[in-house]
Amino acid sequence: MKKIIFITAFILFGCVSVSAATSDDILEKYSIKPKTVDVEALKEKLSQSYKDYGELSDKYYKITYLNNAEELTNVKREREAGKIDTEKCMLELKRLSDCLDAMVNVDATLEELEDVEDQYREKVKELNELMTLKEMLNSKVPHFSENTGNVSYDEVDGALKETERLKAEIGNAVIKEDIGELNGLKSPTQGLFNITSKFGNRTDPITGSGIERHSGLDLAAPKDTPVLALFKGTVIAADYNSSLGNYVIIAHSSEFQTLYAHMNSLNVKKNDTVNQYDTIGFVGTTGSSTGYHLHLGVYINGVKSDPEVLFK
Ligand SMILES: [Zn+2]
Repeated sequence: MKKIIFITAFILFGCVSVSAATSDDILEKYSIKPKTVDVEALKEKLSQSYKDYGELSDKYYKITYLNNAEELTNVKREREAGKIDTEKCMLELKRLSDCLDAMVNVDATLEELEDVEDQYREKVKELNELMTLKEMLNSKVPHFSENTGNVSYDEVDGALKETERLKAEIGNAVIKEDIGELNGLKSPTQGLFNITSKFGNRTDPITGSGIERHSGLDLAAPKDTPVLALFKGTVIAADYNSSLGNYVIIAHSSEFQTLYAHMNSLNVKKNDTVNQYDTIGFVGTTGSSTGYHLHLGVYINGVKSDPEVLFK
């Protein structure tokens, strides 16, 4: 059977500079199949991770605060201990002891002796109290961390990074889940199509000479063949202009859009939400076109990229 290949269309849109550098980004970013990612379980993990982070950072700052506070207290205690003069007390004791010895050799009365002995016992008691206080002030109170276990800043930082990693994982999973299947992607037109012009450099189809950059993929198909949305998304443009003819742009995420041009008629309007493979219009040859075909464009972060990467 003879294949009907339409002459490739030329559109002004295709003359603008293009780049294929970020084409692989699509596959990298959207390669996880939605059903293999349990978003709910991930969210639960994230919530636990936030809790762990909260507890660790609380403990870290509490320990740091208390250790600093105890450090200050210990310095203060040592200063107080330094003020306790036990030497004066000991000299007094020596004097009382000498006095008692002397009293034995002189004829002191029992009353006099008992009085000095009382003074002596008082001084001993005073000295003991001073010694105990000094010892107490000199001994450091153990740090908070010695009683409760330590937490390093690295542990706190690690827990925070884990929450960031989980958030990114959830973000990617949600994006991937939102736009529909990627692997084994179906045609953007119902039924078979012929690729008549690829992305990149080509001979100018109007003048037949010179090189122009083609910013998309041309797919020849019979008139009024349904054109399908490649992924779920929001229609951000459904309009006509002299180069693209009737065209639709669908945003699948903030950084990923697809363009469908030269359609005979449109089946969607601006701000419509479309599901993957919904019919958005019908193949035509409107605008700057020389035959029935769909011009498919892919934009990643605003850069025109090769749509063929999606069908590999
Ligand atoms: Zn084209």
